[in-house]
Amino acid sequence: MTSTIVAIRGPARPLPKGDARGRVNLRGMSRDELGAWLQRELEMKRFRGDQVFAWLHARRVADVEAMTDVSARDRARIDALGSLERLSVDAIARAADGTRKLKLRTADGQAIESVLIPNDDRGLTLCVSSQAGCCLTCAFCATASLGFRRNLATWEIVDQVYQAQDLLEQEASAEGEEWPRRVTNLVFMGMGEPLANYNQVRRAVEILTHDRGAAIAGRRITISSAGLVPAIERFGREGLGHEVGLAISLNATTDEVRDRIMPINTRWKIAELLAAVDRVPLKRRRRVTFEYVLLADVNDSDDDVRRLAQLVGRMRCQINVIPFNPHPHAPFRRPSQRRIDRFMALCRERGLRTFIRTPRGDDIAAACGQLALEGPTADAGRPS
Ligand code: SF4
Repeated sequence: MTSTIVAIRGPARPLPKGDARGRVNLRGMSRDELGAWLQRELEMKRFRGDQVFAWLHARRVADVEAMTDVSARDRARIDALGSLERLSVDAIARAADGTRKLKLRTADGQAIESVLIPNDDRGLTLCVSSQAGCCLTCAFCATASLGFRRNLATWEIVDQVYQAQDLLEQEASAEGEEWPRRVTNLVFMGMGEPLANYNQVRRAVEILTHDRGAAIAGRRITISSAGLVPAIERFGREGLGHEVGLAISLNATTDEVRDRIMPINTRWKIAELLAAVDRVPLKRRRRVTFEYVLLADVNDSDDDVRRLAQLVGRMRCQINVIPFNPHPHAPFRRPSQRRIDRFMALCRERGLRTFIRTPRGDDIAAACGQLALEGPTADAGRPS
């Protein structure tokens, strides 16, 4: 990558190797890795891996001691080398529309955010972060203002889901509801470029979709990319397109504009990006999503619609139009409602499958492009 793209502000940090006692976090291992680790490090039978995996990911136990079908001797040995450490919750902000922003902190002090968004069908979508900060300096994005801190470890990605699920259970219990709502959908669209942290994201997907764990359906998971072409090619090569959805943050129809608002485009141009996306094998009936943040007088003209149709009209895709959510870190404006309506109408006239994404949680700075570790906090901590 060029230096324009990797504009790292502040020192980038390596992934932590273990907890304060040097123990590896067990929540960051796939089921096979966990079984192999228990066998290799502790000379346990491989089936122990299945038991421990279920305790960690289906029941989300906080302590090895809770693993009651594992002998006391084996629990002590697991505890000596393995950690169940979790993220800590700094605050939870609640928006008027029911969106919650979870402000979380890693053991080494990195602040990250996840956003829990209610769906119409009683399910919930969780938008997870894959990095602390981001190095891709997209001009409309508040996270870019943080610079890049480090990639998140697998367990730090996975635990965002479990923190959200814990929150839902506490809310249900406070309301006297027997059945808590569940995180049903996952989008990797929080802080960071997910495909720049490919291995950890890949493993997190494997863990979260496992039927002995959280069992989130792969078809309900979407990984987003700003256009990291080699990683998109790897995504395709490794068959991830058959497991989860792919979203591309496109946001412009000319290289001139995209270079300006998404510096990654100075390395991989629109044509190269779309050619790579086109080669990703997808599951039958699945479509690539193109995210298009609509910026007044930048990418919202009738000519933009015409070019958009030329660029992606023949692809199996849908376009999510996201009217810009203003924030202090970017100099852009949201187009007028008339302009947004016209953009949508022209897209549809040209046969593009187009959806408008209304901002959710913009009163708590939780909407698309607003995650920057600030914004009002409605209440600190979890509901009691
Ligand atoms: S839009 Fe995504 S890739 Fe671009 S700077 Fe923000 S977090 Fe990074």
